Amino acid sequence: MVAVFMLAATVWPQMSMFSLAGMLQDEGCDADAPMHILLSFDDRAHLDDWVEFAPMLAERNVVATFMLDRVGTMEESDWQKVQVLLDHGHALGYHGEHHLGAEASGLTPEAWVQQEVLPSMDAFASRNLSAEVLAMPRGDSTAEHEAAVLEVVERVRLTAGPAHEDVTPWASGCGEGPVHKAVSLDERWGGVDRWLPEVLALREGAGFGVVHAYGHEVGGEGVDPDALIELIDASQTRGWSWVGYDALP
Ligand SMILES: [Zn+2]
Repeated sequence: MVAVFMLAATVWPQMSMFSLAGMLQDEGCDADAPMHILLSFDDRAHLDDWVEFAPMLAERNVVATFMLDRVGTMEESDWQKVQVLLDHGHALGYHGEHHLGAEASGLTPEAWVQQEVLPSMDAFASRNLSAEVLAMPRGDSTAEHEAAVLEVVERVRLTAGPAHEDVTPWASGCGEGPVHKAVSLDERWGGVDRWLPEVLALREGAGFGVVHAYGHEVGGEGVDPDALIELIDASQTRGWSWVGYDALP
């Protein structure tokens, strides 16, 4: 089982691109749907990077969604950094109270939500914060876990990993549905320019599209900030808006 999963995780980018052409022909949404890019960042270990990068995104009217794990153990200094992100107009998401993969945990979906989601929601609520999206830690998920999460959170964001049913692909038509895949922008997976420019061009041909992308740290093996800014600037002149999850239908 483990070997099969790892193989699938290795080949998914190629599979995503090969299946793209078929995807474009199978869209039931309005042709006046918008051109939206949803950008998210995972793992609060990178808060310092995010705080530094947040103003540059805000200057370009980009709303990024920062996915916070281990919220219940955040210190006051961490909350101050989170506040900087919010002050720049960005949004927050949940990312697992212990960053525990849903399937790997061996927990029932309900027990996983109890352990990984509810404590984070309580910690947010105690600061008058809320989030409408949860990024599954490690992209480890099943349809059953997603259904359990959706009892308490509006949307789920996955990685671009192996497909299962009822999941909106990362380069979808209109972004309907509560569970969305996102493609990696990290350098360790090939960087900002590996998938997005080609997909944006394809979506522009269709005239609409909702694209989900995510990264971790800024710089190094994570997201190349210069490459991302360049892509943002170029995409905006072609009609793309970089929005938060509250902008989805
Ligand atoms: Zn993570």
